[in-house]
Amino acid sequence: MLSERRHVTENTLFGASPGTPEMSSLSGKVQTVLGPVEPSKLGRTLTHEHLTMTFDCCYYPPPPCHEATSQEPIMMENLFWIQKNPYSHKENLRLNQETEAVREELLYFKAKGGGAVVENTTVGISRDVKTLKWLAEETGVHIISGAGFYVGATHSPETRAMSVEQLTDVLINEILRGADGTSIRCGVIGEIGCSWPLAESERKVLQATAHAQAQLGCPVIIHPGRNPSAPFQIIRVLQEAGVDISKTVMSHIDRTILDKKELLEFAQLGCYLEYDLFGTELLHYQFNPDIDMPNDNKRIRRVRLLVDEGYEDRILIAHDIHTKHRLMKYGGHGYSHILTNIVPKMLLRGITENALDKILIENPKQWLTFK
Ligand SMILES: [Zn+2]
Repeated sequence: MLSERRHVTENTLFGASPGTPEMSSLSGKVQTVLGPVEPSKLGRTLTHEHLTMTFDCCYYPPPPCHEATSQEPIMMENLFWIQKNPYSHKENLRLNQETEAVREELLYFKAKGGGAVVENTTVGISRDVKTLKWLAEETGVHIISGAGFYVGATHSPETRAMSVEQLTDVLINEILRGADGTSIRCGVIGEIGCSWPLAESERKVLQATAHAQAQLGCPVIIHPGRNPSAPFQIIRVLQEAGVDISKTVMSHIDRTILDKKELLEFAQLGCYLEYDLFGTELLHYQFNPDIDMPNDNKRIRRVRLLVDEGYEDRILIAHDIHTKHRLMKYGGHGYSHILTNIVPKMLLRGITENALDKILIENPKQWLTFK
């Protein structure tokens, strides 16, 4: 590992000498947008959220005859429609217009016992590290920003043309030097976007992710394509490229691996299993009509199953808020839903306080700490 690290510092960091302060100071630390912190400072952590982003890339045309509703401002009268067709309402896809509401909701999250948020917005869905830094300063919530690229459909021609080595340099640079032309540094790689089937440029980004992870000892988080085979394939690509599986999170398990047998087979691979769509209740999942999106009670039962099967050290949970309608400002559940509503229900369903502390505090801490 040491020789690999020297290789990185000498060859990719603009002539920085081996053992630069950046490098040595990250080991054993978590890197937030305000700088490295002791892992014990994080507290209860949501490992997959968005605080500012745009989701225009995933606009989904409304059902026939619903075009007018999709153009209206968000109101009480159309809120239920938006909740059921969230990706067919253009204004709903602009979370970046709600910085003030997000600031207030982060303060509420903190008041309810929250400590940290991993902000998964990557290139392609309008990452904005300056706003993340401002939110962290204003609220005192630790915010960890994501390096890398969202799904292939959002990759620029320049990104598609890059070699794995060039992509690796981009990721390392966003973690050691800063993202989006600033000196604000990312503390995790991802969410790295993958489609089904996996696009060629997505495969290269995955390989680059594994190379950067192996060199930095950093955490990684993946958005899989919407097919039960996708997470298995992604782990194979990452492992062949040298990733540390114990530092890897597979997001969106709730909508990806619904079969119990397949889930337990996937759990054996050793990555973190993230149930990160808490609060999402969809009748019709626009991105894959074959999937019946589970509700929160089903998610809780799945978490209980994984705890019973001995995977309590591998479970993470979050809401993955990425549209306006899920904010409390618009009648949504907000960033505190897990702490205020899900935790009590989990206790009622036999998930112990000890297991909950692992899921909310210890597992995020272990994952986010640089090796
Ligand atoms: Zn996400």
